[in-house]
Amino acid sequence: MSIFNDTQIAFQDKSTEQLKKAYWMFKTIEQPVITDLGIKILNFTVHNKFPFVEGIVRKTLFEQFVGGETREKSMEVVKQLFKSHIGSIFDYAIEGKEDEVTFNHTCEEIKQNIKFAQGNPAIPFVVFKPTGFGRFKLYQEVQAGAALTTSEKEEWSRVRNRYYEVCKLAHERNVVIMIDAEESWIQTAVDDLVNEMMAEFNKEKAIVWNTIQMYRTGRLEYMAEDLKRAENGNYFIGYKFVRGAYMEKERERAAEMKYPDPIQPTKEATDQNFNAAIDFVMAHLDKVAAFFGTHNEKSTELVMDKMKEKGLVNDDPRIHFGQLYGMSDNITYFLGAQKYNASKYLPYGPVKDVVPYLTRRAQENTSVAGQTGRELILISKELQRRKNR
Ligand SMILES: Cc1cc2nc3c(=O)[nH]c(=O)nc-3n(C[C@H](O)[C@H](O)[C@H](O)COP(=O)(O)OP(=O)(O)OC[C@H]3O[C@@H](n4cnc5c(N)ncnc54)[C@H](O)[C@@H]3O)c2cc1C
Repeated sequence: MSIFNDTQIAFQDKSTEQLKKAYWMFKTIEQPVITDLGIKILNFTVHNKFPFVEGIVRKTLFEQFVGGETREKSMEVVKQLFKSHIGSIFDYAIEGKEDEVTFNHTCEEIKQNIKFAQGNPAIPFVVFKPTGFGRFKLYQEVQAGAALTTSEKEEWSRVRNRYYEVCKLAHERNVVIMIDAEESWIQTAVDDLVNEMMAEFNKEKAIVWNTIQMYRTGRLEYMAEDLKRAENGNYFIGYKFVRGAYMEKERERAAEMKYPDPIQPTKEATDQNFNAAIDFVMAHLDKVAAFFGTHNEKSTELVMDKMKEKGLVNDDPRIHFGQLYGMSDNITYFLGAQKYNASKYLPYGPVKDVVPYLTRRAQENTSVAGQTGRELILISKELQRRKNR
C-alpha cells in the first residue's frame, strides 16, 4: 500500500464542496473527446471575451489549479499551504505572447517575485520559463547556429540581459531562481545561458537552477559535463529534475525531420533515467542540490529512501520535492507533514491569460496515464471518509 494514502492529510485544506467540484472536473477532463472539444470552445470564447465563460473558468479550472489573479491575491493560498509546511513557487502563468513589451513585463514581474520571496520561507524558489523572456524562434536560431541579423543580435542580447538581471537580483537577495525546461530544439540555447549564470552567481551556493528532463536521452552525460565545468569553475549546481512535458511534440518533429528521437524509447527507460538522476545527486551532494518535480509516488519514495540511506535529515537543504497546485496533494501534504522540503508550483495571472496554462493541465490530465484516475480515487476516498464520520 502506498505511503501517500492518507486523504485526510492530503485534503485538509479543501472543503467538501471544493472536493465535489474537483471530482466533477477531473471526471470531465478524463474524457479526451470532451477535453479536446472543451479546449477549443474555451480558447475561442475567452479570446472573444464571453464574460460568462470567464466566470465559469474562474469557478472551475482556475480555482483548482491557480493561486489567484495576482501575486498578492494568491497570498491566502501561500499562507494556507505554509501551515502544512508546504512552500509556494509563484509561477507567472502567462504564455504564448511574444513581443518585447510582454518579455520586459514578465522580467519585471519575476524581479518583483524575487523581492517578494526574499527572507520568506513560505516562498522558497522563484521560477521563470525561457519563452517568457524571448521568442521561441530566436532561441531556435541561436541553437542552430544560424547567422543572426543585426536586429536579431540585439534582440538576443536583450534576452541574455533579462536572464542576467534576474539572476543578479536573485543572488543579491539570496533567493533561489529556477529556470523551466522546454523543447529540445531550444533547450541547448537555454542551457548555455543558464550555465553562464550558474558560473557567475553560484560561487557561494546554488542560486541559479537549471531543469533537466529525464525523458531525454543523453542527459546523464550532459550532467557529468556540467559537473566537470562546475568543478573547474569552482561553483555549485542546482537542478530541478522532471520527466518532461513535450514527448509527443518531440517524437513528431524527430520523425518528420528524420533525426534520432531525443526521447527515451519507453516509459520504463524514462523511469530508469529518472532514478539514475537521483543516484547522481546523492553521489555529488558536495556540489549539487536538487528539486524533484514529480507526481510519481515511486520516484518520491525512492528519493526519501536514498536520503535515509545517506543519513540525511528530512529537511536537508539540498533536497526538495514539488508538485503542481491542484494535483497530487496526497504526495505534497504527506511530505510536508514529515517535514521534507515540499512545495507547490503556484500559477497566478488574470483568468483569460492563464487559459493556455489551464488547457495544458487539462490535456496533461487526459494524456498522462493514470493521473486523473489517481486523483479521482483519492477524492472519492476522502468524500466517503467524511460521509462516514
Ligand atoms: C513542479 C513541477 C515542475 C515541472 N516543470 C517542468 C518543466 O520545467 N519542463 C517540463 O518539460 N516539464 C515540467 N514538469 C512536467 C513534468 O515534466 C511531467 O510532464 C509531469 O510531471 C508528469 O511526470 P511525472 O514524473 O509526474 O509522472 P509519471 O506519470 O510517472 O510520468 C509521466 C511522464 O513520463 C514520460 N513518459 C510517458 N510515457 C512515456 C513513453 N512511452 N516513453 C518515454 N517517456 C514516457 C513523460 O515525460 C510523461 O510526462 C513539471 C512538473 C512538476 C510537478
